[in-house]
Amino acid sequence: MKPVVFDYHAPATIDEAIAVLARYGGDAKVLAGGQSLMPLLNFRLSRPGALVDLNAIPSLAYIREHDGEVRFGAMTRQRTIEFSPVVRSRLPLLAEATALVGHLPIRTRGTIGGSIAHADPSAEYPAVLAALDGTVVVRGPRGERVLRSSELFRSYLTTSLGADEILVEVRLPVMPAGAGVAFEEFSRRHGDFALVGIAAIVVGNAQRCTMARLVSAGAGPVPIRMRAAEEMLERDGLSDASVDAAATRAGELVEPDSDIHASAAYRRNLTRVLTGRALRRARAIMGGR
Ligand SMILES: Cc1cc2nc3c(=O)[nH]c(=O)nc-3n(C[C@H](O)[C@H](O)[C@H](O)COP(=O)(O)OP(=O)(O)OC[C@H]3O[C@@H](n4cnc5c(N)ncnc54)[C@H](O)[C@@H]3O)c2cc1C
Repeated sequence: MKPVVFDYHAPATIDEAIAVLARYGGDAKVLAGGQSLMPLLNFRLSRPGALVDLNAIPSLAYIREHDGEVRFGAMTRQRTIEFSPVVRSRLPLLAEATALVGHLPIRTRGTIGGSIAHADPSAEYPAVLAALDGTVVVRGPRGERVLRSSELFRSYLTTSLGADEILVEVRLPVMPAGAGVAFEEFSRRHGDFALVGIAAIVVGNAQRCTMARLVSAGAGPVPIRMRAAEEMLERDGLSDASVDAAATRAGELVEPDSDIHASAAYRRNLTRVLTGRALRRARAIMGGR
């Protein structure tokens, strides 16, 4: 199929892009890597009057360390993130999650800003944003806003971004030295979106877990931070028994829907199983990086 007719703009600056979006009063869409938007246009599930292509704005693609954070321009390609030495050493969870995003050609075009703005509940980057307690910087005609993941993600493919706003930067706090991390997911075929994914971070030692983060993807309309399961680990440590108990609790904390790909009960069970796997793997590498 072919998309409906649309106007095309390729502004050279962020301000110009915002001005064009504002001019269309909600009828224009931003084009980043096109890996989600182009299929939607081709199936005519999305019918914008105009596309505002961000690919001609060089200042939107960078990876920089700043003040305890790694900052990514929204147009930074997933493939660049996959091979970034800064990401490997400072944000190993993001490095691991990136390798699970689609296939190589998708990561070559797809961007970090596009993945987060698209807000697919099964996508890896929104879960990583929530697990690392990162923020996004959003710019529009009314100025700039900095949003945490709980303020950004609203529901399936829905964020609090205005139609005239652009996500310009993603900020992820550098992970504590010695943190153990793992991103575990299950999909039917290699490269498919996950049915469920689990991001896990643990900090501590054999006796004590000083920090645990557990976030599910695909087990509800938005990434879910499973705080009650994290608290169990921070209280009881990382023994096999506490990992199993936290994994069981994780399965109770999510409220997935059934769809053509999997039932709610199956997704709940996957959450339990994958949480256990992710925690065991994160525990095994804790302190060893
Ligand atoms: C076969 C296939 C498999 C895939 N598998 C996975 C997977 O396993 N995991 C995964 O996470 N993703 C997967 N993807 C999606 C891929 O990661 C996309 O790259 C990503 O979802 C969107 O990023 P993009 O840069 O291509 O954005 P686009 O497709 O260009 O845009 C997506 C949406 O976000 C909006 N948008 C984009 N950038 C901005 C911005 N800076 N500010 C405001 N709005 C913006 C657009 O208007 C559009 O609504 C898959 C895609 C395909 C085709």
